[in-house]
Amino acid sequence: AVKLENVVKRYGALEVLKGVSFDIQPGEVVALIGASGSGKSTALRCINRLERIQQGRIEVCGREVSDEAIDLRALRQEVGMVFQSYNLFPHMTVGQNVMLALRRVKKIARPEAAEIARRVLTQVGLGEKYDSYPEQLSGGQQQRVAIARSLAMQPRVMLFDEVTSALDPKLTGEVLRVMEDLARGGMTMVVVTHEMAFARRAANRVIFMHQGNVHESGDASILSDPATPELRDFLEHDL
Ligand code: ATP
Ligand code: MG
Repeated sequence: AVKLENVVKRYGALEVLKGVSFDIQPGEVVALIGASGSGKSTALRCINRLERIQQGRIEVCGREVSDEAIDLRALRQEVGMVFQSYNLFPHMTVGQNVMLALRRVKKIARPEAAEIARRVLTQVGLGEKYDSYPEQLSGGQQQRVAIARSLAMQPRVMLFDEVTSALDPKLTGEVLRVMEDLARGGMTMVVVTHEMAFARRAANRVIFMHQGNVHESGDASILSDPATPELRDFLEHDL
């Protein structure tokens, strides 16, 4: 579903991705881990072309992302992304927030969009918050609305960038449960996270990035039995 081949990304003279390659199969859940500055967010941002790359290639659902002629609108419908900040519109209800892209981007009529919004909100456990405003919700609930808003577009791949970092442990748990449900439902997911327990439970594969390279990857057992000193060091100190 997602393939990176020798991807190089530079900001001026700073090489942030130094030839990153990985291949994610449909339905796979990959946890992307690594120290601050190792290039995790940059890798996600390259996948949905929020950033251009300087070398290599990226393919998503058969589309050549590095192709200048790519249909960005179509790409971003296929690739949902959720960030640490939820970015909900405060003056719109939860339902309206979820419907917005369905109406504006997918041009779906209001009754059908409302029905989809109700369905995805129910999926994340927030069916009863349809008419609430974001400020009436906890951080965890707002983050689940952000996930629902992404799901409403029926993406084929979901990218998550430290979506629980701003939340306290209880709220983190409810967001992670929604993500585990999605994973079990067969969604293809790339999850940048510091939640090693989540990585152990939900990830088919763990990719450890170090200084702009994929330094070690494998199933979740690499978290208990790292092969490289860098991963061992990260697991001991960086959490
Ligand atoms: P964190 O765990 O702190 O989120 P990360 O692994 O997500 O870290 P990135 O955000 O991908 O790291 O950043 C990798 C490197 O690229 C860092 O050195 C960062 O300073 C640099 N960088 C990121 N975005 C930009 C930008 N827009 N312009 C210049 N440098 C950038
Ligand atoms: Mg980051």
